[in-house]
Amino acid sequence: MSTEIPSRAWLEVSGSALLRNLQRVRTIAGPDAPLIPMVKADAYGLGMARAVSLMSREDPWGWGVACVAEGVTLREMEATRPILVFSPAAPGEVARGVESSLTFCVSDVSFLKRVAREAVARDRRVSVHLEVDTGMGRAGLDWRTAGEWGPAVDELVEGFDGRVQWEGTFTHFHSADDADDASSKLQVRRFEEVLQALPPGRGGMAHLCNSAGGLRMPHLAGRGTRPGIFLYGGVAGAGLPQPEEVVALRGRIALVREVPEGTTVGYGATYRARRRERWATVGIGYGDGLRRALSNRGQVLVGGKRVPIVGRISMDMTVVEITDLPTARPGDVVTFLGSDGDDRITLEEMASLAETNNYEILTGFTRRLPRIWSEGSGRGATEGNPRGG
Ligand SMILES: *Cc1c(COP(=O)(O)O)cnc(C)c1O
Repeated sequence: MSTEIPSRAWLEVSGSALLRNLQRVRTIAGPDAPLIPMVKADAYGLGMARAVSLMSREDPWGWGVACVAEGVTLREMEATRPILVFSPAAPGEVARGVESSLTFCVSDVSFLKRVAREAVARDRRVSVHLEVDTGMGRAGLDWRTAGEWGPAVDELVEGFDGRVQWEGTFTHFHSADDADDASSKLQVRRFEEVLQALPPGRGGMAHLCNSAGGLRMPHLAGRGTRPGIFLYGGVAGAGLPQPEEVVALRGRIALVREVPEGTTVGYGATYRARRRERWATVGIGYGDGLRRALSNRGQVLVGGKRVPIVGRISMDMTVVEITDLPTARPGDVVTFLGSDGDDRITLEEMASLAETNNYEILTGFTRRLPRIWSEGSGRGATEGNPRGG
């Protein structure tokens, strides 16, 4: 399919792999587990509109976004399912969220009051999920003081005559990616203590698991699960199962040159030809989200063979050394991430060389790269500008 793409560089997204990863989460969590796929940050950089329309086929309970603006965009595509705004919203955003029927995650009682007031002022109902901080430390009500805020929340919810629905209570693991699950177990215990301390029958659905938590502790995923990275093809943590590959990053050779030994390449002239070499210039750079840290470190696949990136990656161009591939020529596809032939560059390989994680690699791809979606039917579909920028 890549032969038809008229771009200098692009991201290929396999919709069918995304769906199979979601189905796998469902199998692990059990048929009755409410699924809340996380589609924040434009579905981890891949494109929220396509991701949501595909995953809707699996009929998830709701969706997870980070902020009100993402939720409002999603509400325009999705009329009915709950949309949870997971990061604490800024006070000025609450009214807009209420108008778009977003579900707020609550980290303090005064914020809950604000949500309730905005709902009353607009004569609307609003659902909230309470976040319990069991060690993550960035948001949520402190697990140690549940005895105090539990009744306060209950009183508040009761006091707004049914306008506020306390629909759920959740926490978030800080180290579920770690093979040692002791800290996650401690967080689970703290969360359970809070649930016990809440007024009887209150608190709604309880949910804890991100991708790693659900894969490591499937018995907890059944209560509600919020998968993210695994859906999009990232390994969720040490020793956890490989998802299907969802994303490939490819570019095309724009120019091939033969250079004598000693020729330098790129800003800072950090690489020097070791012999008579052939270099291919590819129209992709850190302006597309190709990490500059891969300069003189990363490898790419050309015709299924690994060759090195030479010199510094610049904003719009990257040079690879193809001396051992005498037939490579302009127009040939270069794979920076994903499979080509029998070899594959994984998100994790790229992340480790760039000294970051698979999340930052995915969310770092910029808008200049067209996202080319396929659904396994053999027909590609494009989101964004098919000719790149
Ligand atoms: C992002 C996020 C998730 C998903 O995490 P993954 O590690 O990508 O599976 C789950 N819950 C919350 C609250 C999040 O912010």
